[in-house]
Amino acid sequence: MKRFFVELALGKDFELTDAEHNHLANVLRVKTGEHVTVCCGDAFDYRYEVTKITKNASSMRFIERKENFSNPKVWVSVFLAKIKFDNLALAVTKLNEIGASEVVIFNAANCNVALKSVNVEKLNIIAQQSCKQCGRSIPLKVRITTDEPDVALRGFDTVFFADELRENELALLSVQEISATDKNAVIIGPEGGFTLNERNKLLRVAKPVSLGRRILRAETAAIVSAAILLSKMGEL
Ligand code: SAH
Repeated sequence: MKRFFVELALGKDFELTDAEHNHLANVLRVKTGEHVTVCCGDAFDYRYEVTKITKNASSMRFIERKENFSNPKVWVSVFLAKIKFDNLALAVTKLNEIGASEVVIFNAANCNVALKSVNVEKLNIIAQQSCKQCGRSIPLKVRITTDEPDVALRGFDTVFFADELRENELALLSVQEISATDKNAVIIGPEGGFTLNERNKLLRVAKPVSLGRRILRAETAAIVSAAILLSKMGEL
């Protein structure tokens, strides 16, 4: 069933307008009488009947609310150093599909993209668009942090540092003590890797792990490491 996102409380009749109305009426060409799913970012799918379609709005009649079963039941945050927007967008889409909960973008010495130039709003829209395809009602959240690692990583049960210089180190795949009830995080560096100083800071707050004997692109490392964690937590 086609899925739309609105920023209002659902559970009653309403008028769908703006971009989501245009998508329904002119892109997907939904007809009156069809049923669609509408989400507002909570854990439910709201089923609506489209009762009228005009140039500027679609009239939506509330039918029922059901729990969404595609939202992740576990929590994985991916701390990803700033990389080119298209690569961030790819990582956000794939991480949303596999069930990550959060992408936290941070600055590192070897980043060549200014943190302020990262369009977080656009990345969150990309996560929401991905939900229309994968069926989540709660999109992955994208945010920026300028905090130092020891502050940014507070509140996580386990934090892994994907360290490409430690190929003989513990592979993330071999890590045992990962609980589905934990709030876990993985840190991925920029295209140029972390500086020695950054690595030393990270080693104080995160467990270094290898993602294999090849150097992965940052967006690949983000997707692979989250997939391993989510799989170990029973989400994949
Ligand atoms: N220093 C690398 C580039 C960094 S790759 C080079 O020489 O080209 C970008 C980030 O992906 C790294 O900082 C690391 O966090 C992660 N990464 C890439 N390959 C990895 C691997 N085999 N094991 C662990 N982390 C890896």
